[in-house]
Amino acid sequence: MSFADLNLIPELQRAVADEGYTEPTPIQAKAIPAVLERRDIMGCAQTGTGKTAGFTLPMLQLLAPYANSSPSPARHPVRALILTPTRELAAQVSDSVRTYSKHLKLRSTVVYGGVDMTPQTKALREGVDILIATPGRLLDHVQQKSVSLGQVEILILDEADRMLDMGFLPDIRRIMGLIPTQRQSLLFSATFSEDIKKLANQLLRNPLLIEVARRNAPADLVEHQVYETPAASKRALLAHLIRSRDMKQVLVFLRMKKDCNKLARELVRDGINATAIHSDRTQAERELALADFKEGRTTALVATDIAARGIDIAELPFVINYELPYTPEDYVHRIGRTGRAGLPGEAISLMSPDEERLLTEIEKLLKRAIPRKTPDNFDLDRGREQRPRRETRNEAPRREPQQTAPAPRPAAQAQTPAHSPSPPKPQRASDGFDFSKPYQPASAGSPVVQKPPVSQGRTRRPAAALLGGLAVKDKK
Ligand code: AMP
Repeated sequence: MSFADLNLIPELQRAVADEGYTEPTPIQAKAIPAVLERRDIMGCAQTGTGKTAGFTLPMLQLLAPYANSSPSPARHPVRALILTPTRELAAQVSDSVRTYSKHLKLRSTVVYGGVDMTPQTKALREGVDILIATPGRLLDHVQQKSVSLGQVEILILDEADRMLDMGFLPDIRRIMGLIPTQRQSLLFSATFSEDIKKLANQLLRNPLLIEVARRNAPADLVEHQVYETPAASKRALLAHLIRSRDMKQVLVFLRMKKDCNKLARELVRDGINATAIHSDRTQAERELALADFKEGRTTALVATDIAARGIDIAELPFVINYELPYTPEDYVHRIGRTGRAGLPGEAISLMSPDEERLLTEIEKLLKRAIPRKTPDNFDLDRGREQRPRRETRNEAPRREPQQTAPAPRPAAQAQTPAHSPSPPKPQRASDGFDFSKPYQPASAGSPVVQKPPVSQGRTRRPAAALLGGLAVKDKK
């Protein structure tokens, strides 16, 4: 199936072709025709499935008749409102709206909290056809009368479950009271909790249910572990783990994009072939970085949560949380990158003392403790390997990254946990949350299985295949 088969207007077909998309993803194939028929939608889909284009493309098509280049704000009332839980997601959706609407004369803007309101107010006063917003900041603007929602025709709630988790329900209800009842509503959520169903019942009219297969393999194939370490030792510990475990392909997560380049540079200095991927890099640079990683030319890909969203790697053996995420749900997203395709994976977190609170939140969400480990042959206090190497430390690349692996040690030695304060209790959450299936409604009551450690001398797997995401292989 092609995008032309979905009856998208030429302006949108050109925009997706510019992105290198050759065919719609399953959620796009289902959602686009239904939205074009003005149906309400209840979509159960995670990020990485292409859901943003799934709702944005038909939304733009429905708004296309209003496209105009008049400077008058009156000609650009808010006709589509997209609510997201976080500013990161708002920015990401806004980027997508811009990308897909680039051949249409429709205006869009994004408003979220934590930044100065003035530029947002100015953009709103100039008139926008499509508004992407986090609920709280949107209400601030409504209160200041910088925006009116009286002409909204399409309402989209993205990651509705996270909005509820974050306590936005009262804000959402207030916003509902400000927009016309005669409208089309689309609700996307990664989970189908009772609360989400209740919200859907209130918001949607005879919705079409669209569910796309969860793309995460059972996380019971993922072994989780935490290294408690002083913050100052993290970088050396990371390099030590990559080398001593002979990791060939590892996705390293950081919170801030500004830190990604620095860490990648430091790893390269340590003789590890690393590169950073974040939203400040051009599309071409990102594609190159991904292709190198996919083909096994890069060992470590350093990414932020946002940048990693477009990355779908079929056989990724290691995910390392260099920093723990601020929200526990992001941990689930991160670790969902490994343990796919029926292959085991490891999710390793480096936790400094100031991050203990974040780990507690993660363990609370998972309803289990993550085993603590101490590294072999590494002095955490000094932040250096204990076994002296022949080369002088902190010097320029020792040798080619492919040759940096030290003599293999027995896997058991590398893996033995130093202590597990509270052994993981395989159990499910009271709401049925099954850790082995992140963001999937619970089915059978299978307990969490701790897989045996992956041998550090594991044979090299075929290079990871990028399935969706930036679809490097599709881009010429
Ligand atoms: P989303 O699930 O909306 O966060 O999208 C995940 C990634 O998939 C984004 O980086 C999109 O650019 C990409 N994407 C969306 N639709 C397609 C498509 N039809 N073909 C290839 N990549 C796509």
